[in-house]
Amino acid sequence: MTIDQVAHLLHGKVRGTLTRDLNLAGFTTYRLGGPAAVYFEPADVDDVAAFAGALVGSEVADIPVLVMGRGSNLVISDRGWPGVVLRFGAAFSWIEGGDPLPEERAKCVPARADTPMLYEMRTGASTALPQLANWAARRSLAGMEFTVAIPGSVGGAVRMNAGAHGRDIAANLAAATILDLDSLEVAEKAAPELDLSYRRSNLTERRVVLDATFGLAQGDGAAIKARMEAHRKHRSETQPGAVQNAGSVFKNPEGNSAGRLVEAAGLKGFTVGGASVSELHANFFIAGPGSSSQDVYDLVQEVRHRVHEHSGIWLEPEIRFVGDFDG
Ligand SMILES: Cc1cc2nc3c(=O)[nH]c(=O)nc-3n(C[C@H](O)[C@H](O)[C@H](O)COP(=O)(O)OP(=O)(O)OC[C@H]3O[C@@H](n4cnc5c(N)ncnc54)[C@H](O)[C@@H]3O)c2cc1C
Repeated sequence: MTIDQVAHLLHGKVRGTLTRDLNLAGFTTYRLGGPAAVYFEPADVDDVAAFAGALVGSEVADIPVLVMGRGSNLVISDRGWPGVVLRFGAAFSWIEGGDPLPEERAKCVPARADTPMLYEMRTGASTALPQLANWAARRSLAGMEFTVAIPGSVGGAVRMNAGAHGRDIAANLAAATILDLDSLEVAEKAAPELDLSYRRSNLTERRVVLDATFGLAQGDGAAIKARMEAHRKHRSETQPGAVQNAGSVFKNPEGNSAGRLVEAAGLKGFTVGGASVSELHANFFIAGPGSSSQDVYDLVQEVRHRVHEHSGIWLEPEIRFVGDFDG
């Protein structure tokens, strides 16, 4: 089945925004990348189910689907995405809760042992992570402070097990509702079923986070706000926040720091095309004016090789390259 036929198939079956050849650059923090052949932003959960239902079947099984949140961990090819982009927009940005977390859910949150008073926070897939920190802080609920300056969404953060300041999503996640694009099953999975570890989960491209439930501890409002402020300050002093980037480029190897390895190889400021290694933090790569996604890709490859030559360590990218790249 051609992509035109897929677009035709979806038309009339879904209610949200369905567009052809929509440029994706504006949906990423790198502000780079080409168009999605088909772009779909669902109106609500039923609309996602209608979308998935329309795509089921042997004829459309080969059509690649890219799920997007806030595009803060993605480098999309300059040639774009040849399949369908499923992007969660404003309809999936919501937070509810504040009530005590039910006992069976509380059992899934590892922080429970040291934080016995657990409260529930339910969130939609596209909710911005800083909103979680702010919502919790207003209620003097602790545990999400680390998300205050991570520009991703709940869906992307669960998939990536996002983390910072010694904490990660796994520390607070109780459960997430997952849609399987192949079986069409929608099921709430307890956090341990997602197998979360350092910047990974067992979610594949075909398993979509619709919402997530977190456990929070009762805390001291002033202390929570002070921690958030300290996290913000630390970032603004050590990371290049205001320029085009997607956070840490490489995962930290066990017992080591990717930034230190890049710096030790003499690569701070190293440039390929319009992309360069940040002078402030060597694990952040900046897309300068006129740069392309291919420049970022080439820079990442070159830095990997040079770090390997210098230290013998192959760094593994944390950012995700999507679509076709040369080389
Ligand atoms: C300035 C800056 C600072 C950052 N700091 C940190 C940090 O401290 N810690 C950290 O961990 N990360 C950090 N990041 C990276 C990024 O914010 C996180 O990885 C975030 O969790 C990605 O969320 P997203 O919504 O932007 O996902 P996207 O970039 O849109 O997607 C990332 C991956 O998640 C998948 N995905 C997205 N939504 C869903 C969904 N609903 N269901 C299933 N899969 C989905 C995508 O297919 C893709 O594979 C930083 C990025 C920037 C730009």
